Amino acid sequence: MRVLIVEDEAKLAAYLRRGLVREGYAVDLAGDGEQGLWMATNNPYDAVVLDIMLPKLNGYRVCAELRTRGVWTPILMLTAKSGELDEAEALDTGADDFLAKPFSFVVLLARLRALTRRSAAERPAILEAGELRLDPAAHRCFVGDEEVALTPTELCVLATLMRRAGDVVSKREILESCWDWAFEGDPNIVEVYIRHLRTKVDLPFEATRLQTVRGAGYRVDAGDGG
Ligand code: CA
Repeated sequence: MRVLIVEDEAKLAAYLRRGLVREGYAVDLAGDGEQGLWMATNNPYDAVVLDIMLPKLNGYRVCAELRTRGVWTPILMLTAKSGELDEAEALDTGADDFLAKPFSFVVLLARLRALTRRSAAERPAILEAGELRLDPAAHRCFVGDEEVALTPTELCVLATLMRRAGDVVSKREILESCWDWAFEGDPNIVEVYIRHLRTKVDLPFEATRLQTVRGAGYRVDAGDGG
């Protein structure tokens, strides 16, 4: 899960990032509305946490502009005070949910989980490919009846492949889905994670579900015989 936080209060932004990273999210920060709009337009986030009072472009305008551009990433808007007007306006401009400041981190986390689960049209709650079954929200993976323990990043890589089971997904796409903006290391890190995953979901079951497509990327066997 990759999340963008658009928040100009540096302390709050850093606090949220720390907490979300601990929960296994990849997190990018934007300090003003223009930067937030640019990043949310150009990266595949699972959710955006958007403050209203922002330099350059306020949160309502960022939200409205994203929707105008056809970007439907779930948006959780942070309202400054608990006012019905704020909240109504947040929803009117295309936000999916709002949270009044001050809020507790636990509540933010629960709302984010609900939001990323709700974007269910293209993201079914449970992903399946043959014997592989993955519940991204609950962080659980099964091969047949056997549960396999995965780290948050392994889980994200596998979920990215399983959302498009049977198709080739490029290393770049996996990188963009599971690593944050601050990652400037070797893209071959993806290969390392694919190897880890194979030792967990393939080797013990004498299977070859995770396939390397030379020069193109990776594919998880859809398991439908096709
Ligand atoms: Ca602010």
